[in-house]
Amino acid sequence: MRVAIAGAGLAGLACAKYLVDKGHTPIVLERRDVLGGKIAAWKDADGDWYETGLHIFFGAYPNMLQLFKELKIEDRLQWKQHSMIFNQPEKPGTYSRFDFPDIPAPWNGLVAILRNNDMLTWMEKIRFGIGLIPAIIKGQKYVEEMDQYSWSQWMKKQNIPPRIEKEVFIAMSKALNFINPDEISATILLTALNRFLQEKNGSKMAFLDGSPTERLCQPLQDYIVSNGGEVRLNAPLKEILLKDDQSVDGFLIRGLDGQEDEVLKADIYLSAMPVDPLKVLLPKSWQELDYFKKLDGLVGVPVVNLHLWFDRKLTDIDHLLFSRSPLLSVYADMSNTCREYFNKDRSMLELVLAPAKDWISKPDSEIIEATMEELKKLFPQHFEGDNPTQLLKYHVVKTPRSVYKATPGRQACRPEQKTPISNFYLAGDYTMQQYLGSMEGAVLSGKLAADVIAKDYSEGKNLTSVENQETPTPV
Ligand SMILES: Cc1cc2nc3c(=O)[nH]c(=O)nc-3n(C[C@H](O)[C@H](O)[C@H](O)COP(=O)(O)OP(=O)(O)OC[C@H]3O[C@@H](n4cnc5c(N)ncnc54)[C@H](O)[C@@H]3O)c2cc1C
Repeated sequence: MRVAIAGAGLAGLACAKYLVDKGHTPIVLERRDVLGGKIAAWKDADGDWYETGLHIFFGAYPNMLQLFKELKIEDRLQWKQHSMIFNQPEKPGTYSRFDFPDIPAPWNGLVAILRNNDMLTWMEKIRFGIGLIPAIIKGQKYVEEMDQYSWSQWMKKQNIPPRIEKEVFIAMSKALNFINPDEISATILLTALNRFLQEKNGSKMAFLDGSPTERLCQPLQDYIVSNGGEVRLNAPLKEILLKDDQSVDGFLIRGLDGQEDEVLKADIYLSAMPVDPLKVLLPKSWQELDYFKKLDGLVGVPVVNLHLWFDRKLTDIDHLLFSRSPLLSVYADMSNTCREYFNKDRSMLELVLAPAKDWISKPDSEIIEATMEELKKLFPQHFEGDNPTQLLKYHVVKTPRSVYKATPGRQACRPEQKTPISNFYLAGDYTMQQYLGSMEGAVLSGKLAADVIAKDYSEGKNLTSVENQETPTPV
């Protein structure tokens, strides 16, 4: 079966990979000249990579880890010590660590929390533990129900001291969805905590050994192509063409550089675009359907990813760091954490700026100036004295609409991969799957979409018979 897929991010590429595994022929259309969407990266004139986002792979990413295995590229994941490391704003230049011992879950997480005495008092730990009891006892059902509250509201409801939010959860909330605890849904933090506490290596982190475009997307493309599929760059979907019965008749691809538009015909069509462009391209007649109306509740959140090259080494920490800065979220010295970016003499800091709504339209120079002020607090020893560190160069990558903004109530807006349109499916991190807006969520959504397509068009029930059914129209 020919399946036209719009979008070559992780969801579109993973879907195509699992479709070729099932004997289908995907044709992936990507708007830009680069694979990867939110994990895309570029090489500058000096040969240095810069990326859409600082990306961390977690032990709690079963579908992503399985994909690495299937592509035979597991050795490209560089696993770090099982720790979470936070800057201490009140003691500039110092760190507080949660070190997870090598014992089964949840004991390793509990020991990590109990052993850390810099950030929380014993009384705060006990009150937080008590507050978490309903989530532990009632499980995922409770976690989903808490989508009606923001994390701040949920903490208040559970009588958890507000200081815990300030110490730990501003950093976690910004890392997970680029917004603060008073905005983020409690479901997001509770889901992450559940994974981290229930799986021994759930919170263990890995960095890719080079740029995601080259080290992850390229092998995906190679796999798809060598198994009969196609991946086309510079092929933006312009319009979804419909038949009289409202099912898809073709994808109209915008011709670039004076070329004519082209109609791509397939048996099945799938959007692996982010939710924002999908909403713009939805045919008018579909917009009235409840399934698509719900998408109005999903909007991408702005985020900025920064890369700063320095004339010397600022740290030898080979791990992700939670900055706990009001301007910044997580960061890492990529000259330590990533094999291809290794430099023994000079640091390259990759930092996520979040929340970014007040910064996304500001000039790069202003963003870098504010970031340098924050770095003085994170690395005071290198910015003081007669010979302070020099910034050699920088790259700023802005994503005005990144993952969907996970405010309370969003779970109800997330669509299943199967749509009411007989030959049209969705994949993408925003679609319904248990891993929220993440790389794991994107891969899982692609896999789920491939599964549901295979199920809908399984043996004996070929496309002709589906088209001949009496009710291919939207419900
Ligand atoms: C700064 C930042 C940091 C992040 N950190 C992490 C992290 O540490 N860990 C983690 O798990 N996740 C992280 N994420 C989230 C992760 O990157 C995303 O959840 C995931 O990559 C989304 O994949 P996707 O395929 O669903 O969407 P996308 O990657 O957005 O892919 C959609 C694709 O559709 C294409 N497209 C759009 N319109 C059209 C059109 N008209 N025609 C054809 N193609 C079109 C786009 O160009 C894009 O390539 C981060 C994201 C950002 C931005």
